[in-house]
Amino acid sequence: MVRGREAAVVDTGVAGSADAIGAVLDKAGPGWAGVRHVVLTHKHPDHAGSIGDVLTEATSATGYVGTADLAEVDAPRRLSALNDGDDVFGLQIVATPGHTAGHVAVFDPDTGVLVAGDALTNTEGLIGSNPQFTEDEAAAVASVRKLAQLAPETILVGHGDPVVDGAAAALAQLAASLA
Ligand SMILES: [Zn+2]
Repeated sequence: MVRGREAAVVDTGVAGSADAIGAVLDKAGPGWAGVRHVVLTHKHPDHAGSIGDVLTEATSATGYVGTADLAEVDAPRRLSALNDGDDVFGLQIVATPGHTAGHVAVFDPDTGVLVAGDALTNTEGLIGSNPQFTEDEAAAVASVRKLAQLAPETILVGHGDPVVDGAAAALAQLAASLA
């Protein structure tokens, strides 16, 4: 998420992803020096795997993860705990427990972009958290309903293609189907 010469990075991928993230930051403008915030949607290694390298490169960035996942992420400096409704860089933190207890999504109210992490999955159509990797199914369903209330323009998921057309309607339909 880029604002002028500054950026927030949401999730860091598997271990070894820092160079790829750095290349995107250079192309987008801010580079590592412009990164102010690094937000992890949750503790799983395919999202938090490069937090060490990313925070080492982004020397002026603060790292964040949801309160309930905090104790299970190793980072080179202390991470800040995120809670529902927090504001980071003008981005809205949305607690979306279920996939993990501390899972958060990140919503940009200016652009309608929702970074859903693994609260939503789009590998074979839009669904909620992959049941195979969900800690609390009932909570995960409630989190899908909560995200639908945001009526996002665009949904970026941890696994699968972005939803760029009819995102709000697709998410509302999913939420209704889980009722
Ligand atoms: Zn996950």
